[in-house]
Amino acid sequence: MSLAHAEVNTGRLLEKVIDAAPDFDLVEIEGDAAFLSRPADGLDGEVAVAEVLRAAATMHRAFHVERQYVATNLCPCAGCKEAAALKLKFVAHVGEVATQTIRDRHKLVGIDVILVHRLLKNPVKLPEYVLLSDELYRDGATAVTDPVHEISAELEGVGPVRAHYVDVADLSVAQPPLPPPSWRGRLGSTFAAAGLGMPYMLGLRARREPTPSH
Ligand SMILES: [Zn+2]
Repeated sequence: MSLAHAEVNTGRLLEKVIDAAPDFDLVEIEGDAAFLSRPADGLDGEVAVAEVLRAAATMHRAFHVERQYVATNLCPCAGCKEAAALKLKFVAHVGEVATQTIRDRHKLVGIDVILVHRLLKNPVKLPEYVLLSDELYRDGATAVTDPVHEISAELEGVGPVRAHYVDVADLSVAQPPLPPPSWRGRLGSTFAAAGLGMPYMLGLRARREPTPSH
């Protein structure tokens, strides 16, 4: 149940994060990460950075509102208790992509897609941050009013890159404080987690059942 709930919780949190960024298209869910994109042709560098930071702040808030519901639900399993410690990080880049459609699935391909993925492995020590690639940051640096820190990293297959990060906690986007979860919300979340976890649990039980002999 703990494993099933951990998966359900991650899925719910990712869903909220994705819903909070309606200007971006979901390209793919990659494990516990979501890969989103939006066209940037002709977009002013400053606007691009401002949009990224605004989206990150909104997604971060949606994540924490949902995380609070998950963490305070009534399920005692480890998958639900550990959800309280989940963190959200952002990596953003602007670059050239090609699209590839296989069956009905649209993929983005190209070196810049690889770069943004490789940037997920970076030396930033903060639990939650927005990391902007140098390409994105340098044309829109003036849009960042919060403290920015620079890092350099050697990315596999890409080479040395510079990037710039902002602590999510510093994002100066006015957000009201998180509302305390109500009992109704807690019961609702518990039910949703248990309900969504059910097929997985039933599947497990069915597999363990011995074959009836006649
Ligand atoms: Zn649980």
